[in-house]
Amino acid sequence: MEIDWSNLGFGYIKTDYNIRCTYKDGAWGDLEIHESEYLSLHMAATVLHYGQTSFEGLKAYRGQDDKIRIFRMRDNALRMQDSSYGTMMAKMPVEKFEEAVLKAVQLNVKFVPPYESGATLYIRPVLFGSGPQVGVKPATEYTFIIFVTPVGPYFKGGFQTTPFVIMREYDRSAPLGMGKYKVGGNYAASLVAGQRAHELGYSNIFYLDAKEKKYIDECGAANFFGIKNNTYITPKSSSILPSITNKSLMVLAQEMGLNVEQRQVAVEELASFEEAGACGTAAVISPIQRIDDFDEKKSYIFSPDGKPGLISDKLYHKLIGIQYGDEPDTHGWVTVL
Ligand SMILES: *Cc1c(COP(=O)(O)O)cnc(C)c1O
Repeated sequence: MEIDWSNLGFGYIKTDYNIRCTYKDGAWGDLEIHESEYLSLHMAATVLHYGQTSFEGLKAYRGQDDKIRIFRMRDNALRMQDSSYGTMMAKMPVEKFEEAVLKAVQLNVKFVPPYESGATLYIRPVLFGSGPQVGVKPATEYTFIIFVTPVGPYFKGGFQTTPFVIMREYDRSAPLGMGKYKVGGNYAASLVAGQRAHELGYSNIFYLDAKEKKYIDECGAANFFGIKNNTYITPKSSSILPSITNKSLMVLAQEMGLNVEQRQVAVEELASFEEAGACGTAAVISPIQRIDDFDEKKSYIFSPDGKPGLISDKLYHKLIGIQYGDEPDTHGWVTVL
């Protein structure tokens, strides 16, 4: 089987093995290696009825030195534990999670794309209630799976800006709700809004806080940041997902001599940003060309010429440099396979 690395999209491609682990009778079992992409599931499993499920997303990068690096997997393990807390699922121990990630990449090492392609191996851990329940109660049995699939570079024609849109008729999550957890239901709840934004020609929708509709939450499944007066500003909110990419960019911004502020960002403040971006594992940074306020019929333009801003560009290249091993890993973020 030949994969055309440079023409890969962000889709599912079968790889050789997946790793699984089951929690029952109050304890996690051993990690198991599976070849099948299918599983046999009880029809009353809580994941199917009550959405008791969470997922993670991280990547393995092949460097110029041919070594394979995995970025901040411990943070993904900890975030998955938070999601377990939020949905009353069994917590996957951090060490076991890390061991499963390493095993999944090792066993599928031939699917880690070559350095030059810009493609990566996407790692998808998923945890769900697999035990039967009919009343609304947490399951007593859980299944954890990690599969991997090679994905193409996010920016096919190089690092580029795209437009986003604010539409107040959609919320992603409530202030005291589940937005801070990476749980399945949040993404089902975002599909209509995302589809609508795509149909209108936008990259994704910009969510405002659901209670007051005054502050910026996040954009699609990515965090938001803006740059002005040598400051990196990112929203503080109880309803956004704490992005590991954003957390990393805040550290790098500080090291570059920028001030970093994590605070409420009112919609009108968009007018004062010199640069703006969406950040997450998939794209690292997706620089924002403009944000159209659909309801108020106005636009916030960050990049009249369509080019990413200088600071966004610098942050982007610094972070991917660390991920690929071209830059030194001074924070212990990278695990070399
Ligand atoms: C996963 C995700 C992000 C990005 O998180 P990273 O850890 O940087 O990949 C941001 N927002 C939402 C809603 C997400 O699901």
